[in-house]
Amino acid sequence: MQVLKFGGSSLANAERISAVAQLIKQRSDAAKIMVVLSAPQGVTNELVEMSELAFLGYDFKESVAKQEQRLTGLVESFECLSELQKNKLKAQLITTSEKLLSLLEGIKLLNFCPDHVKAQIICQGEKLSIALMEEVLKSDAIAATSLDAMQCIRSSENYLNSSANITTSKTLFAEQIAKKPAQVYLLAGFTAANERGELTTLGRNGSDYSAAVAAACVDAEVCEIWTDVDGVYSADPRLVNSAMLVDRLSYSEAMELSYFGAKVLHPKTIGPLAQYKIPCVIKNTLNPEAPGTLIDDADKSGDAVKAISSLDQLTMLTLSGPGMKGVVGMAGRVFSTMARNNISVILITQSSCEFSISFCTHSNALERASRALQQEFDLELQNKLLHPIEFKKNLSIVSLVGDGMKKQRGIAAKFFASLAQARVNVVAIAQDSTERSISAVIKAPLCEEALKVCHENFFTHALSIDVFLVGCGTVGKALLAQIQRQQTLLADRNIKLNVFGIANSKRLLLSPDGIALDNWERQLSEADSSFSLVNVSRFVEENHLVNPVLVDCTSSEHIAVQYADFLAAGFHVVTPNKKANTGSVTYYNQIRETAQQNRRRFLYETNVGAGLPVIDTLQGLFNAGDEMLRFEGILSGSLSYIFGKLDEGMSLAEATKVARENGYTEPDPRDDLSGMDVARKLLIMAREAGLQLELHDIDVESVLPEGFDADGSIEQFMDKLPQLNNYYRDKVALAEQSHKVLRYVGVIEDGQCRVAIEAVDANNPLFSVKNGENALAIHSHYYQPIPFVLRGYGAGAEVTAAGVFGDIMRTLSWQQEM
Ligand code: ADP
Ligand code: ASP
Ligand code: MG
Repeated sequence: MQVLKFGGSSLANAERISAVAQLIKQRSDAAKIMVVLSAPQGVTNELVEMSELAFLGYDFKESVAKQEQRLTGLVESFECLSELQKNKLKAQLITTSEKLLSLLEGIKLLNFCPDHVKAQIICQGEKLSIALMEEVLKSDAIAATSLDAMQCIRSSENYLNSSANITTSKTLFAEQIAKKPAQVYLLAGFTAANERGELTTLGRNGSDYSAAVAAACVDAEVCEIWTDVDGVYSADPRLVNSAMLVDRLSYSEAMELSYFGAKVLHPKTIGPLAQYKIPCVIKNTLNPEAPGTLIDDADKSGDAVKAISSLDQLTMLTLSGPGMKGVVGMAGRVFSTMARNNISVILITQSSCEFSISFCTHSNALERASRALQQEFDLELQNKLLHPIEFKKNLSIVSLVGDGMKKQRGIAAKFFASLAQARVNVVAIAQDSTERSISAVIKAPLCEEALKVCHENFFTHALSIDVFLVGCGTVGKALLAQIQRQQTLLADRNIKLNVFGIANSKRLLLSPDGIALDNWERQLSEADSSFSLVNVSRFVEENHLVNPVLVDCTSSEHIAVQYADFLAAGFHVVTPNKKANTGSVTYYNQIRETAQQNRRRFLYETNVGAGLPVIDTLQGLFNAGDEMLRFEGILSGSLSYIFGKLDEGMSLAEATKVARENGYTEPDPRDDLSGMDVARKLLIMAREAGLQLELHDIDVESVLPEGFDADGSIEQFMDKLPQLNNYYRDKVALAEQSHKVLRYVGVIEDGQCRVAIEAVDANNPLFSVKNGENALAIHSHYYQPIPFVLRGYGAGAEVTAAGVFGDIMRTLSWQQEM
């Protein structure tokens, strides 16, 4: 005999029910089968709701009528059924409604819903499925014999979550089958009867368990669970898009997974199958050809971690106090109390000094659990031997499951690092001693993020970067174009880099699927939101993004002062904007501390030398224990160009004009000539070297000498600039006499910074630096007397954007550690 169970999802409408009938037909040609049916999709939920409405004194008649109407519609929609058959089924629906109404009326009157009455209400859906399937099969000339589940499955007392007694049920099944020999049996799932012959139900989702019990009782060759997915996945496919099908699981793995929340199987299903060594296959009614997942005894090989699951709506109770320590029997009392009150305990942890015991239950059992504990430990609580019972609500459990985990080191480390990466705080931890599962109790709102990151790290090894760009000037634009160009390369490296948000000073464009970069400008011009931490954070939360990166390509102070808040909210921050790093030392330190506390990165490689690898190199040097003794550098592309031209005999005004025309200067060249841009870069270098200086501590010699009137519009200023030509011609000539050239340099020396025009000779590495090049000479303990020199183009949108891109990629570094 083969047992085939079809879940509510396979019985959602006439089309699916007919498809199930076809499957039954094909299979019954070759084998005797027992078909276990659940209620049509949604029906049990509606029945539960009706009983709750009645209990709370609300009107339930409308719900009953609506359900009857819906199911009548379902019956009507079968083309294969004759009028006679339809009328028979509709009459049954009316009888069911009448029965429901009288039961619900009783509940409402009594203001009480006894479990045995509730059981009678919620099992109605399965009865309907059986009646319907019998008729549908009959219409195709297949004779199916219905077995009464109450006559076959003997269960424990409990009316709503009862367990089967397999030994007794075996005999009952044998009797029923002997009485009614057939090729196809139909059996209502979810339903059983206790020793007294009263109806019981096997717990929500319990038809899987009915099928397993039936399979064990009839010694089936296989138990197939037909549902709406191709089998068991490495994570719930509704929550994790990239979940992968698992071909094979051991009984223990399947048991752990279902116990820890994989809804595809009811937790009690595997017990009887494992005991009687009946293979179980999970199959998809919508894709019957797919092989499905095989669950059996055999799988000893394979991956260490097979799947990740989560269980929601949990509460953790903690009992602690001096009265716990060393007292024998406390744990026994806690858990007997739970057992007596029929409260299932999902996970237990105990502190090693026995000072406290914590355990999780389903949230709906919290009140009963705490009342029961209060009574049990009344004396101890009154005498302060125990602290008041604590509870933490709104928790979830995330579990890793796999038989092979015990043979592999580092799984737990990777698991907890993944949780940290998802910024999840672990409330409690449990590992079973067979090392088949590791579970972490976490706060519920971050459960989906935790699942996603764990799944990425253990299964897909795909790394995600979720970019939010603010500032779409030349650098921002170039960056978006580079990201677009690099997509294939990124895909080859298994990196998903999506731009989820683009903002300018007026608008914020967000797209949950990632913004199509070929026409972002038009989309942005139509966006109606505006950039703020709240708006962007909400989007990240709603879309469960795990590696959000704020990329600030503005030069705005207003954005820079928000970095600490963005880091605290879980964003990495990447920026060429120098404002944050040249703000107060206090803010400078705050950003770094916040980044560290939140395990997020603050990256600003392009602050100095644009695309040149300055900051990273310095950090590497200092991390290895080196120390900066002296620094000198040409830190401005525009001033490198202008001073280079002076050597060649060009006047200051002419050189500035050409630099401006070639786009080397800021739109207003005074921003370069004032020396403040260089001062900011120098301050950043000094702070990297450990100096706690402020911007005003830097001694800045402007290119525009004192007394020169630099006021007015840009054009007026440019017109006045020739007044300085002679001044510079003389300076250049003087330097030349001693074979030197003028360079605009930043110097760090003896804990002080200065930005000045200096004359350097041919031995100085800065002598030949011109044409817009930057050069940085670092004298350190390791690099002396010849300094370590970095040199190259240090300006331009493309190189800066490439540097920003590099920083964006670096946000992955600690995902890659795993
Ligand atoms: P049925 O109505 O057939 O009993 P269920 O809804 O009870 O179906 O169970 C199937 C659902 O279980 C799937 O649609 C899927 O969303 C969910 N599920 C949760 N975890 C997993 C997992 N690891 N693998 C497959 N499905 C899962
Ligand atoms: N119909 C029942 C429920 O919804 C049993 C099942 O579907 O397995 O809980
Ligand atoms: Mg189910």
